[in-house]
Amino acid sequence: RQAKNNMPQYKGLERYRILEKMGDGAFSNVYKAQDLTTGQKVAIKVVRKYELNSQQVGDKHLNPQFKKKPRATEVQIMRGIDHPSIVKLYAFSESAEYYYLILELMEGGELFHQIVKLTYFSESLARHVILQVAHGIRYMHEERGVVHRDIKPENLLFERIPIVPSKLLPPRQFDEEKEDEGEFASGVGGGGIGKVKIADFGLSKIVWDEQTMTPCGTVGYTAPEIVKDERYSKSVDMWALGCVLYTLLCGFPPFYDESINVLTEKVARGHYTFLSPWWDGISASAKDLITHLLCVDPKRRYTIDEFLQHEWCLAVPAEPAPPT
Ligand code: ADP
Ligand code: MG
Repeated sequence: RQAKNNMPQYKGLERYRILEKMGDGAFSNVYKAQDLTTGQKVAIKVVRKYELNSQQVGDKHLNPQFKKKPRATEVQIMRGIDHPSIVKLYAFSESAEYYYLILELMEGGELFHQIVKLTYFSESLARHVILQVAHGIRYMHEERGVVHRDIKPENLLFERIPIVPSKLLPPRQFDEEKEDEGEFASGVGGGGIGKVKIADFGLSKIVWDEQTMTPCGTVGYTAPEIVKDERYSKSVDMWALGCVLYTLLCGFPPFYDESINVLTEKVARGHYTFLSPWWDGISASAKDLITHLLCVDPKRRYTIDEFLQHEWCLAVPAEPAPPT
């Protein structure tokens, strides 16, 4: 069924006018829509209740293990979350066929697209972006006991369309033009790179008991592997944060291969390099930080607090998010 504007109509979503498609993941369609009651613009994530497998989806990089996404958990977790660096869930509803997540609208789209557009980010711009993400992760890990498990540039969204320098002005040049960079990074004057928020809790998991503020399970009877599991599952977000930071700074990911088997092997061995010439101009401090995140042993990998204490992160005020 199609509406006049060629957008699909969903049963149970009559309160909204669907305006345009904003994205599609393997399991969902996301639309820009308007709440006809309040006039508010929102994003609606429509998730089919009966999911397709990776072959039907045609994504060779999709891990078949994640075929069944626990959507009930996605909604339950998002309901308990309230942080400026995390996309808000306004409402939830469902029909026989679909789940509908009514979300805070992120007009600026994916960080992924900005990396593609800009090739790579200057260090201070990367810092501005990554610190916002890190504060969101700190809140999830330390205040909500939630592990995201799918941190990647496609799931990090800009609140507004960022003002980006033209192709003729590669971002690295902004390092020398302090004034421009200030405006670009802080988002003053209605432009800039602005706010970045974490989206897509489709794979997230609660590792804490909300009531007892301890790892899930009965206090005193919790086995050490459960306590360790909590710590290790948080460390998956830290690895992913390292991958995002690496990609922001040079424009390509630390691990890549056409073959998923080769790629899996490279990741398992933690096999990456700071490839010359791309990494030649990047600070030793940034490389040191990445080394502590892309560290195969989860026990030695930085926690979010260690990350935030690193000198590379402390080079600017802790929360440089611009006023709105
Ligand atoms: P999936 O679980 O299928 O990956 P996501 O929640 O990641 O679903 O949404 C898929 C895509 O839709 C995102 O990568 C992004 O491009 C877009 N999107 C998701 N949420 C929003 C939002 N709140 N505002 C704008 N675009 C969004
Ligand atoms: Mg996604």
